[in-house]
Amino acid sequence: MDYQLSDSHGKLKAKMEKFCSDEIAPGAAFLDSCSGNQAALRMKSNLKRLAAEGYYELLLSDDFTGQAVAGEELAKACPATFLSAMSSATAFGRAVKLFGTDDQQQKIVPSLTAGEMIGALAISEGDAGSDMNLMRTVATRKRGGWVLNGSKDLVTNAPVADAFVVLAWTDRDAGLENGTALFLIDRATEGISVGDYVETMGLRGAVTAGVTLNDCVLTDDAVLGGAPGAGWVQLQRVLDEIRIAVSVLCVGIGVSSMNDATAHAKQKKAFGKPIGLFEGVGTKLATIYTLNDIGRMLIYRATWAMETKDPERSILTACAKLFTSEGVEQVSSMAMQIHGGHGYLKGTVAERLYRDARFAALAYGTSEMQRSFIAKDTLDRFRPA
Ligand SMILES: Cc1cc2nc3c(=O)[nH]c(=O)nc-3n(C[C@H](O)[C@H](O)[C@H](O)COP(=O)(O)OP(=O)(O)OC[C@H]3O[C@@H](n4cnc5c(N)ncnc54)[C@H](O)[C@@H]3O)c2cc1C
Repeated sequence: MDYQLSDSHGKLKAKMEKFCSDEIAPGAAFLDSCSGNQAALRMKSNLKRLAAEGYYELLLSDDFTGQAVAGEELAKACPATFLSAMSSATAFGRAVKLFGTDDQQQKIVPSLTAGEMIGALAISEGDAGSDMNLMRTVATRKRGGWVLNGSKDLVTNAPVADAFVVLAWTDRDAGLENGTALFLIDRATEGISVGDYVETMGLRGAVTAGVTLNDCVLTDDAVLGGAPGAGWVQLQRVLDEIRIAVSVLCVGIGVSSMNDATAHAKQKKAFGKPIGLFEGVGTKLATIYTLNDIGRMLIYRATWAMETKDPERSILTACAKLFTSEGVEQVSSMAMQIHGGHGYLKGTVAERLYRDARFAALAYGTSEMQRSFIAKDTLDRFRPA
């Protein structure tokens, strides 16, 4: 076992750290506080700059460890930009790269890599998040193609996306595993519309909106991979990668919170000494460091499992997401505590990261759903002797 980053990953980390601290971090507070339209403009510019750095090429590759190494630097600098890039390249782009026909890949992957296209993945609905059996979006067979009706309510990047991957029923009686498809839909297609900006508590620069499908007519070649029926299984594979990405987001936020809290603990004095020297503050710093470090180890364990196609890989991605998303809530809360009342003020780094941190345990499978997934696997595999 070697805990050392490879030479190329070490160089990637250094390059991304410099790029993100010079180009992305200075705009993070603005993205959090500006209007939806301003955020959309700024985010598009951030995404273009990331494309020029080769970040999408990396996210669209099978180098999961490289993605974690580079992604942590981006998440440290601006969690909202990380989420937007992840939604475009991992959630949308990897679905196309892994399952798209040659034509679909040709249409999407080069433009995405070059930063000329932004994508979004539209799965959740008002009544269907954890339980997608309750999904209402339906694709009906008509005149040799499909007509889609339904609505998706929380779609990251929807206001800026050029194309969407959308989950819909193609045969409700066949159930999720055999009766759904992922549809690749261009924003200009008649019948698809994007709603107003949805206001979120954190990660506000990653603009979000609902998407409505109203008699949206599609040809057969809009079905990802060409044949209907495989949508749910394809989505589960992409979710493995999304769970790793969300874990990386958490560790990035956690490290940023740690840096901010440590600087404050060294500089702020009380009772004649820096507050970091009080046990009550020092133990928080120690716990923060430990949570971040274990989280990163779980991420690398999961990326290694993905790269080696370990049969446990899906469970390991769920363990990483569960631990890091609950860990970062504690980390950001302790970091705020170290700042005292001043950390509670709007506009401080501690306050912004505290709000950003709350996202991960709620989205792309809540903590409860991760636990139920891990528990089911445990019950299935381990039997008393
Ligand atoms: C900022 C943001 C961005 C998002 N971006 C996207 C996106 O780009 N694309 C997309 O498709 N979706 C997106 N989502 C949606 C997100 O993935 C869902 O909100 C999430 O899956 C949870 O679904 P829900 O909100 O409907 O909650 P529900 O499923 O209604 O859950 C409510 C509560 O019930 C619990 N619960 C439900 N079932 C069980 C069970 N069996 N056992 C125990 N507890 C249970 C849940 O854990 C939760 O605590 C986004 C969400 C947010 C907040």
